[in-house]
Amino acid sequence: MLPFKLVYSDDYYLPIGAHVFPAEKYRRIHDRLLETGVAETSDFVTPQPASDQDVLLVHTPAYVHKLKTGTLSAREELELEVPYSPELVEAFWMAAGGSILAADYALQNRIAFNIGGGFHHAFPDHGEGFCMIHDVAVAIRRIQHEGRIVRAMTVDCDVHQGNGTAVIFAGGPIARGPFPAAGHWMQSSSPTGQMRSSHAEDVFTISLHQLNNYPVFKPPSSLDLNLPDGMGDGEYLACLGNALSLGLSKFDPELICYIAGADPYREDQLGGLSLTIEGLKKRDALVFQIVKAERIPVMVTLAGGYAQNLEDTVTIHCNTVIAAKEIFTV
Ligand SMILES: [Zn+2]
Repeated sequence: MLPFKLVYSDDYYLPIGAHVFPAEKYRRIHDRLLETGVAETSDFVTPQPASDQDVLLVHTPAYVHKLKTGTLSAREELELEVPYSPELVEAFWMAAGGSILAADYALQNRIAFNIGGGFHHAFPDHGEGFCMIHDVAVAIRRIQHEGRIVRAMTVDCDVHQGNGTAVIFAGGPIARGPFPAAGHWMQSSSPTGQMRSSHAEDVFTISLHQLNNYPVFKPPSSLDLNLPDGMGDGEYLACLGNALSLGLSKFDPELICYIAGADPYREDQLGGLSLTIEGLKKRDALVFQIVKAERIPVMVTLAGGYAQNLEDTVTIHCNTVIAAKEIFTV
């Protein structure tokens, strides 16, 4: 039995037909975790869909109305990059409910997973890049609204920048200063960092992502690490360690939301970094070791993963659970 809960629903499946987004990955991860003995049936808990009131803590009434009534414009549907249907709306509301439940369990048990979610490209008034609504932001706002926490941090390790997260939690004037540790990183093809001179008081957002990739316009997170094409395991882990120690020196979160994208993988179809499957597991372990040492609860979501071979994406996501099991089992 795992020392934490895995929130999962068969209804996470996204009814989008043949698509680069592997909609069946959630069920495949669930099944693999059971088949390999990593998890037992009793480790899984089933969420309820988020309520509209929860979703409205992040998204505009006009956008929610369009989603519920099927009245997105053709341009809005194009931007979403997945075909609209009422069933798709239900799947995204369920993913958001899953992140709410995972945040709830994380506060009780130090760590919890949503075997779904991580839809970090959703904005308050529109969806983009396969993301209709921002489940992680909905979960943060819901538990803040309940008065259970004040300060949260997002740690986004998907290969694509968390543009929706950055905009939702933007606070104060967007004046960029140089990343304090950037001095020795200034060579071309080296990572560059930007830290906002001010950020939202209640949510600190960190994003490590490939610079030359979607989204073209990257609204500033509290801390952005812009990584060059082809970066491998060693450099990536060094950047992640630096980003976490800098972020945690500036901000004292009561909950960390780790967005554990599988797409920094070297064989990802939509990514251009060069992490190995082993390197990605070390990435997960690094995050878990730090949050455990700092005694900060962590809620994990999956986000992207578009490997040529779906089995690799499933392996990378399952490894995140295995890394947590190894670190949190005492
Ligand atoms: Zn991604």
